[in-house]
Amino acid sequence: MRTYQLLIGGKWVATDERKEIRSPYTEQVVGSVAVATTDHVGKAVDAAAAALRDGAPAQHERADALEAARRLVAERADDFARCIAEESGKPLTTAQAEVARCQDTLLFSAIEARKLAGSVVPFEGSSAGAGKLGFTLYHPKGVVAAITPFNFPLNLVTHKLAPAFAAGCPVVLKPAGDTPLTAYLLAEVMVEAGWPEGFLSVLSGSSSTIGPALTGRPEVKVISFTGSTEIGQSLQESNPHAEVLTELGNNTPVIVDASADLESAAAKLAATGYSFAGQSCISAQRVYVMSSVKDTFLDLLAAKVGELQVGDPLDPDTDVGPMIRPDDRDRVLRWINEAQDAGAKVVIGGEVNDDGCLQPTVLDDVTPDMKVSAEEIFGPVLAVQAVADLDEAIRLANDTSYGLQAGIFTGDLNAGLRAATELQFGGVTINESPTFRADQQPYGGMRDSGNTREGPAWAIRDYLEETVVVLQLGAGGGAGPVGSGS
Ligand code: NAP
Repeated sequence: MRTYQLLIGGKWVATDERKEIRSPYTEQVVGSVAVATTDHVGKAVDAAAAALRDGAPAQHERADALEAARRLVAERADDFARCIAEESGKPLTTAQAEVARCQDTLLFSAIEARKLAGSVVPFEGSSAGAGKLGFTLYHPKGVVAAITPFNFPLNLVTHKLAPAFAAGCPVVLKPAGDTPLTAYLLAEVMVEAGWPEGFLSVLSGSSSTIGPALTGRPEVKVISFTGSTEIGQSLQESNPHAEVLTELGNNTPVIVDASADLESAAAKLAATGYSFAGQSCISAQRVYVMSSVKDTFLDLLAAKVGELQVGDPLDPDTDVGPMIRPDDRDRVLRWINEAQDAGAKVVIGGEVNDDGCLQPTVLDDVTPDMKVSAEEIFGPVLAVQAVADLDEAIRLANDTSYGLQAGIFTGDLNAGLRAATELQFGGVTINESPTFRADQQPYGGMRDSGNTREGPAWAIRDYLEETVVVLQLGAGGGAGPVGSGS
């Protein structure tokens, strides 16, 4: 049983009210957390603002703390994986992969902290800059409010805390209501690793109460949000005082070309399309298959999907566990049934098992207007549609307001490169599932999928201000009209 108090400015704080956290699989209580009030939010933001005024630790100290956190996460990897599996229902092996990726995120953030440097300005490049030398300096942008979703309760939290700390920014984190335990476990590690007081607060509680209290504080200069498009866009509208960085939803398309290695495509989509029961923002969803190979591909896919073990997330042999809430499972089931009513066929799956898990499902003869294709399903479903050629596949894949990641399986280099240039998404995978992400890549979306790129080397820029320093060489020189004023 894991129990946590709030972390406010590096100190653990008890509260009157607490919330039990239950396993989505057994519905048993696996832990409990303190429930923050708006007063706690005020104290956390004040502590962060005070820490910022006192100054961030030096770059090498930030890097040391990030590297120490990485070592501690590695030492406690089993506990982290178990905690993720218990509170989110993510299968243990998938949770272990998340813990390994968290270590990468910490490592890449430490590297950014060590090598963070401005650049030399080429003043000699025009007569306006003659006789000047210049360079830029970086400063932390300010207090960061980080808000994270339930589906990667460790690594998506790390993707905010670590680059922000690498930049020297204090963070107040509000983790997802369903999965706060892993965030607190990580916070414990960060405190032990040497995060200075004031640089980290973690507040669990009602999002409708503490959410606006946190994001609305004027000291908060950056709101870093990962979650649904609806909430992300409402935060952008209601918080004009802050920069709102968003990592949002997707209804991920993948094209299977006639020239593709169909066996490999089927194996990769079966392995990744259902991991964490499809509850990943880049879980493959809309599958556009050339009609000439559709039947062969569907046979291969159904065979692979049929091999997936569904059930207890704590069983190391489980591939697919429960969805986070029964309501979400019932919504996905409803969309499957609606698609069937409109003419789609269930190739495999489509039922709920006795333990409440929705079976991994493949639908065929899907049309673009069905919810399973038009909206983000966020469940264990691949929605297959036959297409005549690559033109049609690219047109349908792009016919969405989302733009996070997309993929193509093809044996034709030209088709792959054409898809890479014409698919309007933040990431395009060729002969890899669009569910692929590594922590050293830029990751983020266009349009309704978000406005930023995470991955420490990109994310750190979002937390920094840049100042140019202009140095007059020699004894002074005159201030002429050229190059002066804006
Ligand atoms: P969600 O319902 O939007 O919740 C995300 C976070 O926002 C949670 O911590 C939630 O708190 C909080 N929140 C809700 N209302 C708020 C408010 N008014 N003010 C401040 N915070 C508020 O999303 P989810 O169900 O956890 O996650 C699924 C969604 O996230 C999917 O759409 C998925 O595509 C997206 N996602 C995107 C990425 C990406 O990188 N692009 C990655 C993962 C997930 P409570 O939980 O306490 O309500």
